[in-house]
Amino acid sequence: MNSHIDTELLLNYSNGNVEPALSLAIALHQKQCKPCRQKIAAIESSYGQNLELSEASRIENNSFERLTADLDKLPTSDNGVSKTSKSLYKKNIDIVDFGEDDTLSYAIAAINRPLFNQLSDFNYDDFEWQKLSSKISSVALELYDPSFKVNLLRFSPHTKIPKHTHLGKEFTYVIKGDFKDHKGKHNAGDFIACDGSDEHKPIVGTSGCVCLAITDAPLHFTGVLGPIFNRYASY
Ligand SMILES: [Zn+2]
Repeated sequence: MNSHIDTELLLNYSNGNVEPALSLAIALHQKQCKPCRQKIAAIESSYGQNLELSEASRIENNSFERLTADLDKLPTSDNGVSKTSKSLYKKNIDIVDFGEDDTLSYAIAAINRPLFNQLSDFNYDDFEWQKLSSKISSVALELYDPSFKVNLLRFSPHTKIPKHTHLGKEFTYVIKGDFKDHKGKHNAGDFIACDGSDEHKPIVGTSGCVCLAITDAPLHFTGVLGPIFNRYASY
């Protein structure tokens, strides 16, 4: 796993300030990703402590900045997490030891659970897939989220997606398979955030790819065939 969720987004997620579509992708990623799960647990533990402290009028002004700095020190791969980060938590954040299952059920409380279960069990073959091309199919998922459109996308092996940029934000969660672009290779479990500064032409790996795409504006195709593809990318 190469791509994780940035600390600011995790803080908003833990505070319940993330849209339903994005919450679903974050919940799916954290189920697969121990480092992000530990960050969420640390944030939630810290919120609990701050609540108690503020009730006693003893809250420190820099506690939020300190928490962010501590979280950024945590490793972003599963390697060596158990030893290093546990001691870091104990020293600086004094984490409450959530059981793995408790952490998860707390953090996914606000998301669409049936859909979460289906996607995390790879149980989506019966969805009404629409063919966009010979190699790409999609399903629009209704999450009643006014901010984002959510599509499940399925790509055949070796699909080359035309060069494009983003007119807004795009978050991708890789459910199965992999693809690569200018940022590197993205495997199952990765959470990738893109915006207008990212221009890429992803190439799907040898076993194909299924991913969750969350966008707040259409893609903008920039290659030779851009003008043609853009007609089909209307929102
Ligand atoms: Zn992660």
